[in-house]
Amino acid sequence: MEQDIKSILYSQEALNTCVKSLAARISEDYQGKDILLVGVLKGANIFMCDLMREINLPLEIDFIAASSYGSSTKSSGVVKILKDLDYSIEGRDVIIVEDIIDTGLTLNYLIENFKSRGPRSLEICTLLDKPERRIAPLKVKYRGFQIPDEFIVGYGIDFAEKYRNLPYIATLKECVYSK
Ligand code: 5GP
Repeated sequence: MEQDIKSILYSQEALNTCVKSLAARISEDYQGKDILLVGVLKGANIFMCDLMREINLPLEIDFIAASSYGSSTKSSGVVKILKDLDYSIEGRDVIIVEDIIDTGLTLNYLIENFKSRGPRSLEICTLLDKPERRIAPLKVKYRGFQIPDEFIVGYGIDFAEKYRNLPYIATLKECVYSK
């Protein structure tokens, strides 16, 4: 895999520091609340696992799988729920945990969908954000890093289902896309 990497944007150490600081803010803000972390599969898997272990409060977790990309590098704009939540979010303090926000179409769809289920509160925690590419407006309370408009992989985030197991966030060499 290493031969396909163009450059490393965030090392394991940088990601670790970022996750700890997001978790510290959440731990402070949600004291006495009923936290339900909802991870958006598959990309947010690793971020979610690391984040929850750093939150110093009782919490529960659930996962939803949504797709707007297929196996290409551009959003199709059509969001499909591939796996819904296992539990009701009515009356819960829900934090949606996302790997990366690009156009915002996926999260915008999920936010509207979740609002109709009656949570007590609803916030977004994303590791990465590409604000330049936003189409759908979103209020993001917890954001790790803002990144430029570049396609990235690693730390749970894939290209055509590969590279999720890289421990860092990286860009890929051009030749990888034409393989
Ligand atoms: P949006 O709906 O905001 O355009 O896209 C959100 C989803 O697209 C993310 O959850 C992620 O799965 C995927 N995505 C957005 N940007 C990137 C990227 O740079 N690399 C990869 N691998 N996936 C991305």
